[in-house]
Amino acid sequence: MKQQGSVAPVLIVGGSLVGLSAAMFLAARGVPCVVVERHLHSSTHPRAIGYTQRTLELFDTAGLRGIPEAPPTFRLRRVRVESLTGRWLDETDWTPKSARVERTEPQRMDPSPHHGAVIAQDRLEPLLRARARELGASLLLGTELVRFAQDADGVTAWIQDREGSQQVIRASYLIACDGNRSAIRDSLGIGRQGIGVIEVMRSVLFRADLEAYRHGVGQFEVKGPNLDAFLTTYGDGRWVLMFKDDIERDHATLTEAIERVLGAPLPFEILTTGRWELTALIADRFAQGRVFLAGDAAHTLPPTRGGYGANTGIADAYNLAWKLCAVLSGQSQPSLLNSYDEERRGVAWLRLRQTFARPDYLQYADEESRNTAILDPVAIELGELYRSSSILGTEGDLPPARHPSDWKGQPGTRAPFRSVTREGKPFSTLDWFGSGWLLLSSSANWCDAARAEGKTLGLNVSAICLRESLSETDCALVERDLGIEGGGASLVRPDGVIAWRGTAQQSLTQIADVLRAAAHTM
Ligand SMILES: Cc1cc2nc3c(=O)[nH]c(=O)nc-3n(C[C@H](O)[C@H](O)[C@H](O)COP(=O)(O)OP(=O)(O)OC[C@H]3O[C@@H](n4cnc5c(N)ncnc54)[C@H](O)[C@@H]3O)c2cc1C
Repeated sequence: MKQQGSVAPVLIVGGSLVGLSAAMFLAARGVPCVVVERHLHSSTHPRAIGYTQRTLELFDTAGLRGIPEAPPTFRLRRVRVESLTGRWLDETDWTPKSARVERTEPQRMDPSPHHGAVIAQDRLEPLLRARARELGASLLLGTELVRFAQDADGVTAWIQDREGSQQVIRASYLIACDGNRSAIRDSLGIGRQGIGVIEVMRSVLFRADLEAYRHGVGQFEVKGPNLDAFLTTYGDGRWVLMFKDDIERDHATLTEAIERVLGAPLPFEILTTGRWELTALIADRFAQGRVFLAGDAAHTLPPTRGGYGANTGIADAYNLAWKLCAVLSGQSQPSLLNSYDEERRGVAWLRLRQTFARPDYLQYADEESRNTAILDPVAIELGELYRSSSILGTEGDLPPARHPSDWKGQPGTRAPFRSVTREGKPFSTLDWFGSGWLLLSSSANWCDAARAEGKTLGLNVSAICLRESLSETDCALVERDLGIEGGGASLVRPDGVIAWRGTAQQSLTQIADVLRAAAHTM
């Protein structure tokens, strides 16, 4: 048994959707990192398929290309049927019509430049792997974490490959992306709260050409004699039939079940089977010392029509990446990292409650979820409010999420998207965000003050004078989106979240305290 040692600023355990995203986001910010993943390849039975607008916005910041975007009119539809080719009963909504807010003003139409993507997990993971590697991340596939220990200065991890060779990695920080059954979470003694195990399900993945029978619908609840199952497609000729029980079925029984669900003698080929534990559990804390939990290790949210599972985990990774970068580069104190738990645990609970308040999961809901008002899905995806020590100005009675166009630049929310014209070409305001700290204002004084103070504090701060950069019309719209009309200023964090908003009347010297507090500078 060979044993060698190496050093990495960040070690990521688990190289599935969330671990790979963490590696990509860190590498995009120039932070060297190592991923250890037990498996050599993606699972042959994909799980996630739906990726939200926000996830695609985050992927943009790392330059991940090649994900086929859903058309603007795309809507994930679910229909109750007796069989795919037989009688269709009715279509059910994820968000009841009564809870949806119709928006009519044209400027409220596009909260994001993206529409989401439909791509199977085993097709997305290779894209993430390739991009993470291209940016400099090191991926050790077929290698597992055997044990780890942390001390005041870092984390020591013992890893082993399939040939039995062992390596010791010394890292400043460890991100546990090791999934629902996270051994790292358990070894830290971090408990979980929530609804618990909802169902254990069995599934069969099969290939069939059924496009002509689905009429643009992606999900089917199949209710037939002696049959209560769920059928969905990965949109690439692969379909999955899920049984709401934990019974092992042989090939003949699976074949018969697929035939019944299809309702006509159509050709198909069985690819593989799966067993899923649907759980809704949230870790009591998302960090302990130098170890951070992300993705399913931190929260399991059952599959919804909004895709909260992987998408929430990918957003965890994005939230953590800039903070680790800021601390490792010496721009921020380690106390900035406390805001990871403060911000992301709140989001996980909001999404859990929103899942169980909806008709799909109401039968399993606890009292608090049952009494939760259902929010517009766009509010949950693009308009969540972070409250933490890195955000200034979230005092008072604010809702946990709102439609992004209703926030008007509220600190703690995602800086809003608008398509403006720059140098004669359309430009997304989101392209301003994602690297360093950014101050937006039409006041040259605020911009100068932010740049100067950034230099003094050793922080990567830039400023854009909106009046000089945009047409009069676009400038007025962006100022309104940010709530900084009349010479106010908005400070946006490196993750595109608004940290602070000031008015023209406030003293310019205040920017020093603002930057110090929001960035936790030295
Ligand atoms: C049927 C189904 C459909 C779903 N559909 C969607 C969807 O459409 N949209 C969505 O957002 N979410 C969806 N989800 C949820 C989504 O699949 C998960 O949230 C997501 O896979 C979690 O990713 P993760 O990287 O956190 O964990 P996992 O995918 O569980 O990955 C953990 C990884 O860690 C590795 N690992 C564990 N321990 C070690 C160790 N000691 N050493 C090395 N490696 C280790 C494992 O091998 C594994 O690769 C679905 C889930 C199910 C079950």
